[in-house]
Amino acid sequence: MQHDAYRAMWERLDLDLPAHDGLLQVLGKFYGDIYMSQQGRLQGMEYLDFVLSEVHGLRIQELQEAKAQGRKVIGTFCVFVPEEITLAAGAIHVGLCAGAEAGTELAEQLVPRNTCALIKSFIGFKLARLCPFTQSCDLVVGETTCDGKKKAYEAFAEHVPMLVLEVPQQKQSCDRELWKAEVLRYKAEVEALTGQTITAQSLAAAIRTVNARRRVLQRLGALRAASPAPISGRDALLINQVSFYDDPVRFAGAISTLCDQMEARVAAGEGVAPADTPRLVLSGCPMAVPNWKLPYVVESAGAVIVGEESCIGTRNTRDLVDESGTTVEEMIDAIVDRYLRIDCACFTPNSERMDNVVDLARAQKADGVLQYTLLFCQPYGHESMKLARRLEAEGIPSLAIETDYSMEDVEQLKTRVEAFVEMLRSRRG
Ligand code: SF4
Ligand code: SF4
Repeated sequence: MQHDAYRAMWERLDLDLPAHDGLLQVLGKFYGDIYMSQQGRLQGMEYLDFVLSEVHGLRIQELQEAKAQGRKVIGTFCVFVPEEITLAAGAIHVGLCAGAEAGTELAEQLVPRNTCALIKSFIGFKLARLCPFTQSCDLVVGETTCDGKKKAYEAFAEHVPMLVLEVPQQKQSCDRELWKAEVLRYKAEVEALTGQTITAQSLAAAIRTVNARRRVLQRLGALRAASPAPISGRDALLINQVSFYDDPVRFAGAISTLCDQMEARVAAGEGVAPADTPRLVLSGCPMAVPNWKLPYVVESAGAVIVGEESCIGTRNTRDLVDESGTTVEEMIDAIVDRYLRIDCACFTPNSERMDNVVDLARAQKADGVLQYTLLFCQPYGHESMKLARRLEAEGIPSLAIETDYSMEDVEQLKTRVEAFVEMLRSRRG
């Protein structure tokens, strides 16, 4: 990325330029070490390398150009915010979750220390003036999922224009009514922001666009069931991460080409690691860019990741919105139903998630499941204990890891992960 070409834009967005330069430098080195060092990458990953190298450059420039033409940018932190509605009103939908330690001291002036790293990170990025995506947003949409987020949004609302959607915590008929009212409220807010009325035609087109992106990610996921694994877990995670801020149509086209290359690789019996490499599914909290620590540790320990059961993974791509509706009302109902199938740990009970993890591990022919929970995350921390018992009953080995975004525990993680991978290898015989 040509930093000089973007400096004036970053200045207009009120970024702290010296701190931002430092961040890009660290990110570039981190990416080089974790990604560019891999052997046998698919040619289609060049698109992802390019998008990531331009994440604060070209993509932000695109957002600014769209804004100059009157389009609005809406930032979100959760896969519960219906992207179809954003797109149907002509706005741009971007994910704002952050996966690096930045501005932690500033963040801890706004939220308690014992808050998960994901929350502290997005607050830290904003307060330290490091995130051009947040700075580009006309509206930031939060949601009442976990307690950490909903209280953090109260404080965050002092710094950005915020709307908070009420997400129910159960899935009974009264909860569906509540959720439908919230989806309609979101529609009204987005229409007011953009000045565009959502029509059956624009909503149907938006549903098809978002479904097309989900379908291509489903295809990618299905191809990862092959042995040997045709793509590394790091690369697959990056693809899922980039899906949250790239243009959805361009992204689906690029990943479709990459899937063609994967298909050819599978047909030739080739892969990124030998066929006897232990295969793992990651399960739990979302891993936002540039949170690549655990996948790097796992794949450096001689395993390959073949699936991610998380919101930056199958939880976001598993279910499509039914495309058969013809009226706005029917399509809203289809959106309400699709989003209520999300198996976030914030729900109680949430037994479908246990089934979904087992199903994914079986579908991907995984030797084991690595549960990933961010420190101080109550919902996934609780479910981790339940899931460990369920996996044991199913005869699927699992290891529970609790960590954050710091690098201090890397050696300790390596030791635990290597022992787990060795155990899986000996089970394979
Ligand atoms: S884990 Fe839950 S709260 Fe977090 S992004 Fe996913 S659905 Fe939203
Ligand atoms: S990781 Fe856990 S605590 Fe953090 S925002 Fe997500 S659900 Fe909430």
